[in-house]
Amino acid sequence: MLELHSVTAGYDRTAPAVRDASLTIVPGEAVGLLGPSGCGKSTLAKVAALLHPPRSGRVVIDGEEVRGWRHRAPRELRTAVGVVFQQPRLSADPRLSLYDLIAEPLRATGRRAEVVERLPELTAAVGLTDELLRRRPHEVSDGQLQRACLARALVLRPRWLVCDEMTAMLDASTTAALVAVVEAYRSESGAGLLAVGHDGTLLERWCDRTLRWDEVADRTKDPART
Ligand code: ADP
Repeated sequence: MLELHSVTAGYDRTAPAVRDASLTIVPGEAVGLLGPSGCGKSTLAKVAALLHPPRSGRVVIDGEEVRGWRHRAPRELRTAVGVVFQQPRLSADPRLSLYDLIAEPLRATGRRAEVVERLPELTAAVGLTDELLRRRPHEVSDGQLQRACLARALVLRPRWLVCDEMTAMLDASTTAALVAVVEAYRSESGAGLLAVGHDGTLLERWCDRTLRWDEVADRTKDPART
């Protein structure tokens, strides 16, 4: 299970962006998290993806409590969660070809030998041709780059996938294609999904259940509400 228990998180000395948020996802389940812009969804998604340490609360992945975030997280926990963000250009190294971008997590975890076996199936699944794979991020569209970012998130076969507004910048056909790739991966691997977004129609179509932000987090201290 992916469990978030009473997570409070924020930035520097400002008021917390997320207060007392709790959420549990069972293996194979797709959970949508719906909320307006600025409510704290991305911050919570980063906590769940082990990229942002909470101020308080607990994150438990498959029974193991997370005690370190970013590079301090143990490798087996870090690689258990794949993540895709809204803006692929902020998360893609501009110096790498799309091929090297997708292969990078395998190389960084000492699994270089798997690159030739894993990349052809994955790049075909996300719809990237050999010609596109040779290009660097500035030579492709946002949609093509997001296809590469999704492939990179799946390359280590994560048990959990966090998609933070993955399709918010994309047209309808690219959105449908990327959601189909996630769903094919989930049905074949049994991975669980947290899909964060503001588009209720998309999340309700995509996910087994969709939670509103006020069902997950405590908004009673939110100045916008009082
Ligand atoms: P959402 O994903 O729901 O749009 P975010 O989690 O991105 O919400 O943001 C929640 C709050 O945290 C906002 O008030 C935002 O301005 C603030 N915030 C987000 N990222 C940072 C950051 N890196 N530094 C400081 N404040 C941030």
